[in-house]
Amino acid sequence: MAVPRLSVVIPMYNEEAVLPLLVSRLRPVLDGLGRTYEVVAVDDGSRDATAAMVTLMRAKWPELRLVRLRRNSGHQAALTAGLHRSRGDHVVTIDADLQDPPEVIAEMLGLAEAQHLDIVYGVRGDRASDTLFKRATADLYYRLMRRIVGNRMPPGAGDFRLLSRAMVDALRQLPEQAPVYRLLVPWLGFPSGQVVYTREKRAAGVSKYPLAKMINLTVDSVISFTAAPLRLGIWLGAIGALACAIAAVKVLVAYFQGAVVPGWTSLSLVVLFLGASQLICLGLLGEYVGRIYHGIQARPGYFVGEDSLTEAGPEPDFP
Ligand code: UDP
Ligand code: MG
Repeated sequence: MAVPRLSVVIPMYNEEAVLPLLVSRLRPVLDGLGRTYEVVAVDDGSRDATAAMVTLMRAKWPELRLVRLRRNSGHQAALTAGLHRSRGDHVVTIDADLQDPPEVIAEMLGLAEAQHLDIVYGVRGDRASDTLFKRATADLYYRLMRRIVGNRMPPGAGDFRLLSRAMVDALRQLPEQAPVYRLLVPWLGFPSGQVVYTREKRAAGVSKYPLAKMINLTVDSVISFTAAPLRLGIWLGAIGALACAIAAVKVLVAYFQGAVVPGWTSLSLVVLFLGASQLICLGLLGEYVGRIYHGIQARPGYFVGEDSLTEAGPEPDFP
């Protein structure tokens, strides 16, 4: 089979409700591009009819390809599976829930080809459809991330983007256990552009990103990119030492003046402060040690159980 010029990677986790809508909007856009394409639907271990529906739809839409992961491995791992298996000269990653309008793909491709860009970010211009809480937490996330990777990361750029083959190959070479593409993509420093779009409401189904997963993504993002949080221990220690020096003078003066210090309050504050800051530092250290542990185990982030292109059996993809 000829290699398609464009790949569209769509991670899907329990997306049966939105699939028919997605196909009816995506297909006309892709058919209208006037080039060969493949749609890589990555079923991230869905427990509903997602995979069965994609298989059925393939009968009418041969460009649709099903890559099925054996178990739910998470959004970023599903993206990895799709990226690693995509074949196009350009690869677009897009969510299944139609929050990212498929029509924008044409614009991204046009821009990439006209200006020879390796990355075209989809940037959310208007997030009015998101809840206030989601917008506030997202804002905080981007501020933090831009401090870490610098201004190359456009604020509001999510996982809707176009990548060139060269860029996908570069990403493949990274031995990351938990790749966070939002950071890795700008970090590689390829020429990039952006297309602004309006983030729509999820067309059907429910969000697969509860607060706990958002916190995980933030922790992963920070820890996979910087060791700066480890310095917290040094700062806390320095502040503690300074406070200790001041308190020592006060306590010693009082002692030699023969005053008995009623120390219950101050003593318990000191103990609580020290205990808490030590536990925080220990927890931070643990996070990094955990990454080292997983890094040494080097288990693949996902297992492909089925790929409709190759009809291959079980086969681990080592990132
Ligand atoms: N997703 C996935 N695996 C997961 C969670 C989510 O593949 O474990 C997919 C999901 O099907 C969707 C995309 O990741 O295509 C983004 O998820 P969602 O729209 O639920 O996140 P939100 O837009 O609410 O942040
Ligand atoms: Mg969504």
